[in-house]
Amino acid sequence: MTAGGEQTLERAAEVPAYRGHQVAVLRTERLSPSFVRVTFGGEDLAGFADNGFDQRIKVILPLPDGSITPLGEGADWYQRWRALPDELRNPIRTYTVRAVRPEQRELDVDFVLHGETGPASRWAAHASPGDRVVVVGPNAAHPGPTGGQEWAPPAGASHLLLAGDETAVPAIAAIVESLSGSVRATALLEIPKAADALRLDVRPGVKVTWLPRGGARHGDLLIPAVRETLGALTAERAVTGAANPLEDVDVDAEILWEVPEAPKGDGLYAWLAGEAGMVKLLRRHLVQETGVDRSSVAFMGYWRLGRSEST
Ligand SMILES: Cc1cc2nc3c(=O)[nH]c(=O)nc-3n(C[C@H](O)[C@H](O)[C@H](O)COP(=O)(O)OP(=O)(O)OC[C@H]3O[C@@H](n4cnc5c(N)ncnc54)[C@H](O)[C@@H]3O)c2cc1C
Repeated sequence: MTAGGEQTLERAAEVPAYRGHQVAVLRTERLSPSFVRVTFGGEDLAGFADNGFDQRIKVILPLPDGSITPLGEGADWYQRWRALPDELRNPIRTYTVRAVRPEQRELDVDFVLHGETGPASRWAAHASPGDRVVVVGPNAAHPGPTGGQEWAPPAGASHLLLAGDETAVPAIAAIVESLSGSVRATALLEIPKAADALRLDVRPGVKVTWLPRGGARHGDLLIPAVRETLGALTAERAVTGAANPLEDVDVDAEILWEVPEAPKGDGLYAWLAGEAGMVKLLRRHLVQETGVDRSSVAFMGYWRLGRSEST
């Protein structure tokens, strides 16, 4: 290794890939019945890496008295947070960067409003300018890749399929709005209500379908829509149609998260996220029943019905 390479490695060890950014709410915008966009501001955002796509972040929410226990600098913030006594440990939830403008010190996060049972949904429903949180996100000063993104289709993919529920809307929206080139893409988005369909700015060749759930269960609209899309792609030979064996995942005991590291292939690449039980059924359909190669599919359980992210 060259001296320059060693120095980069040393710097990478010193400068964490993710770090806490002190931010406050600048403004909120109710996008639809189920989505509120919170725009955060703060000098700290000058150093937030703008990686795009499905970049995930952790939002450290205030305790009931409005305080946020300092976690200090460095990569081991999570261990320090875990070691705190219950009364000082702030709730932490995972979200997606919808957009970041470091030069303007601004960050947009689209929160799903699902009621008052979860601290994040509750906080977002009442957020107002000046409210403070900490956003643990990618650090532009880190010399290597910061991670926290899963969108990585192979260069030769002939068709991109993105499917998810409302929690995946911010990620899918950011991905499809940034797609360049001519590859065809289908985005299937299951949302609580028809009025939750948002305006997305996509190029020709990217087809976005909103599936309002109404009173149906999670996945009741998305699963058949994915089946139908796959049926059409099988006819076009982008999918083989040959079944692959697949081990079962207990979504109550394990995290459903499987992302191929260096996907190859010139057929379909699929990205699926949302409620874990629903994603499990989609995964089974794609890999086991339809024969999509599992190295061409990213599956992510973003949340579990009836379970808080903290359990
Ligand atoms: C990588 C990643 C990115 C994500 N990006 C986003 C994002 O950009 N926007 C977003 O809104 N969410 C996003 N999520 C999902 C979000 O983290 C969860 O919905 C989280 O549980 C919300 O926290 P909470 O405090 O509101 O509820 P929790 O305290 O975690 O849960 C309380 C109760 O609410 C239920 N619940 C949680 N979420 C929902 C929901 N959406 N609809 C109905 N019931 C729910 C739980 O099952 C539980 O019963 C993302 C998750 C991951 C892993």
